Amino acid sequence: MALKASDIQKKLPDGGKKNCKECGFPTCFAFAMKLAAGAISVHKCTYLSEEIKVELEEALAPPIRLVTIGVGENALSIGEEEVIYRMRRPFTGLLESPSSSLTKKKKAPSLGKLRR
Ligand code: SF4
Repeated sequence: MALKASDIQKKLPDGGKKNCKECGFPTCFAFAMKLAAGAISVHKCTYLSEEIKVELEEALAPPIRLVTIGVGENALSIGEEEVIYRMRRPFTGLLESPSSSLTKKKKAPSLGKLRR
């Protein structure tokens, strides 16, 4: 389960209230938000203990592990990505096909049908 910025902030130095700006962000919470979004590394904060860095990295790791199918130039690697929810159905990219009901566009009803 992905961590929220507020959960990450609690694990930062001084409970996320140090705000030293050495990571390049104005506050620990701003750092936590970028970390939660996966935009930066935990190593940007030099005050984090190795134990907390490992804990955060594991918690923020993508839920889908990388899997490689095939060998050589025919190898296909999939995973290490977030599941994207769309229309309350998980979308993984593998399970959807172009003929899926999600990709078909419904034709808008004509005005004549709406007036009846
Ligand atoms: S370097 Fe660490 S303690 Fe300093 S503001 Fe950034 S996250 Fe907070």
